Amino acid sequence: MKQHDAMYIDGSWRPAEGGGTIEVVNPADEQVIAVVPAGSAQDVDAAVRAARAALPGWAATPPGERADRLAALRDQLAARAGEVAATVTAELGSPLAFSTAVHAGVPVAVCGSYAELARTYSFEETLGNSTVLHEPLGVVGAITPWNYPLHQIVAKVAPALAAGCTVVLKPAEDTPLVAQLFAECVDAAGIPAGVFNLVTGLGPVAGQALAEHDGVDLVSFTGSTAVGRRIGALAGGAVKRVALELGGKSANVILPGADLPKAVAVGVANVMANSGQTCSAWTRMLVHRDHYAEAVELATAAAAKYVPGEKTGPLVNAAQRDRVRGYVAQGIAEGARVVAGGPEAAVPGTGYYVAPTVFADVTPEMTIAQEEIFGPVLSILKYEDEDDAARIANDTIYGLAGAVWAGDEATAVAFARRLHTGQVDINGGRFNPLAPFGGYKQSGVGRELGPHGLTEYLQTKSLQF
Ligand code: NAP
Ligand code: MG
Repeated sequence: MKQHDAMYIDGSWRPAEGGGTIEVVNPADEQVIAVVPAGSAQDVDAAVRAARAALPGWAATPPGERADRLAALRDQLAARAGEVAATVTAELGSPLAFSTAVHAGVPVAVCGSYAELARTYSFEETLGNSTVLHEPLGVVGAITPWNYPLHQIVAKVAPALAAGCTVVLKPAEDTPLVAQLFAECVDAAGIPAGVFNLVTGLGPVAGQALAEHDGVDLVSFTGSTAVGRRIGALAGGAVKRVALELGGKSANVILPGADLPKAVAVGVANVMANSGQTCSAWTRMLVHRDHYAEAVELATAAAAKYVPGEKTGPLVNAAQRDRVRGYVAQGIAEGARVVAGGPEAAVPGTGYYVAPTVFADVTPEMTIAQEEIFGPVLSILKYEDEDDAARIANDTIYGLAGAVWAGDEATAVAFARRLHTGQVDINGGRFNPLAPFGGYKQSGVGRELGPHGLTEYLQTKSLQF
């Protein structure tokens, strides 16, 4: 696996000041595949200084030229998609087909969408006797997780660059290699030195230093609610902008009249993809009492297809595997019924695997119905009527995504309006890279992707005439 023993700061690869390192492990075979630098607060400071120095020039670069550079970046990501997929498979463990389609494919589309938006967005508007200028917010500190490692980088860096901001990225310690590959693509795309900087390192060291740095105007974080809360508090104290993409416990609501086999099959696939490590996963399936037994049978059969080590990869690391196993044990202890997978199911002897697991007889107050498990675990809950379904669906601290299935679109849309959540897929609606993505309630603050994601990186100035 290709790797740098250096960090990309101010347009060149530099060793870490402190000399610390992080071992990168392949979670499918538990072997160390690379060693990357663990950046210190000094490294973060050097990167933020580079980003500040590059800000006036990049902010003044005409949007059309920024668009050209983003188009070149998209082309780099497309040309190196095979390497991206292999890298994500090696450091995250997802099967190569999924890495190719999603981990490598989606970032090309998202980067392309921001090349287009940089070219077409109105960075100026007229309101009565005012001209309102939409100006770059400044230096962005981006902190990203490991579950969709390149997507989460591109979903922050591409809109920031389109807006005219400069960036310091601290990627997850488990997936630094695809971040290094991204930095190579940025360099090859001719994006000027200092506009994008990469500091690999540990969250409580490099991540914390970045979130706290006075030279950062906006902290954009994706990850756990616990760390997000700390970063939000830090940003509030310093009066700097913050964007938070946090956890989820999304509901897949199957109304009477829906195509039950399709709704269950798509619902199970949604949870098992990426070994369940998806913040927007529909981890609670809500089924009317009259269709409940049939849905459980269908889900049991569907889950059998997700064979660990073949169609389903491992969890990212041993700690996540143990955490997920703990939730499975807790589900059993609280009285839920394992209908697929579970602690006894076979998994490969090496690698951080958990068997794809389906729980029936889950009730809304159970831990597995409330907390984000972040593993291949589906809970199926029963409801009495639509009011009951809406109440259960809305009864968590989260509100990131969800799905509604009904016999007709109007019924599904009417129900979707009742959900306290940032996205709802109607009867299997497709992922849209332009649709705003983000949370109600404790799922976060702000929106990513498309024009809504771009506005997060802008601030307004009004001129009165
Ligand atoms: P995490 O700790 O929140 O990690 C996210 C990012 O924040 C990583 O880059 C991490 O660095 C960094 N970080 C950690 N502590 C920090 C601090 N004090 N200051 C600044 N940055 C910090 O998440 P995790 O430990 O990898 O996963 C734990 C749980 O979070 C999962 O089980 C899941 O429930 C949730 N999660 C949610 C998402 C999502 O997409 N919403 C993604 C990942 C995880 P390190 O990599 O060095 O820790
Ligand atoms: Mg962590």
